[in-house]
Amino acid sequence: MKPLREYEIAFVGLKPGVHSFQYEVDDSFFDNYEGPRDFSNVKATINLSLDKKSSFFMLKFEIGGTATVTCDRCGEPFELQLWDDFHHVVKLVDNPEEMAESEEDPDVSYISRTESHLNVSDLIYEFIHLSIPMQHIHPDTADGKSGCNPKVIEMLERMNQQAKEKDNPIWKGLDKFKDN
Ligand SMILES: [Zn+2]
Repeated sequence: MKPLREYEIAFVGLKPGVHSFQYEVDDSFFDNYEGPRDFSNVKATINLSLDKKSSFFMLKFEIGGTATVTCDRCGEPFELQLWDDFHHVVKLVDNPEEMAESEEDPDVSYISRTESHLNVSDLIYEFIHLSIPMQHIHPDTADGKSGCNPKVIEMLERMNQQAKEKDNPIWKGLDKFKDN
């Protein structure tokens, strides 16, 4: 993948202290990555604050916006609200690869002191993925009912009920009786 220039922060020219950046991400951003994704129609806003210290940066990513996912219960798409914060520390060192190998904290990464730019696209990619829950279920409606398609739920319940009746030995017995 070629580096996404718009996500490069030229940190050398930044004064020590907090700086703010904002990024808008849609589906085309994910086309730069090969990994699978089970969401689409992304409209995400990333507010990044970068606190520049002498030998490291403290980053805070606030992910907001929406993405469309498929409900695990009723199989219909719905719009998910993205709402999450992530912290990350980037340390400036002489030997970033070596340091990264022995680093166990996923919230810490390294770049060389000789670098002039920090590219945050991989972090944004990762944090959008992390802000989408593994399980996608329609949120409840305002009156506390399931937000799922009621027709699909009714059908699933009927199929469940039928499966139970088939397994129930009382019904099996009656079936036998009926055959005679
Ligand atoms: Zn649903």
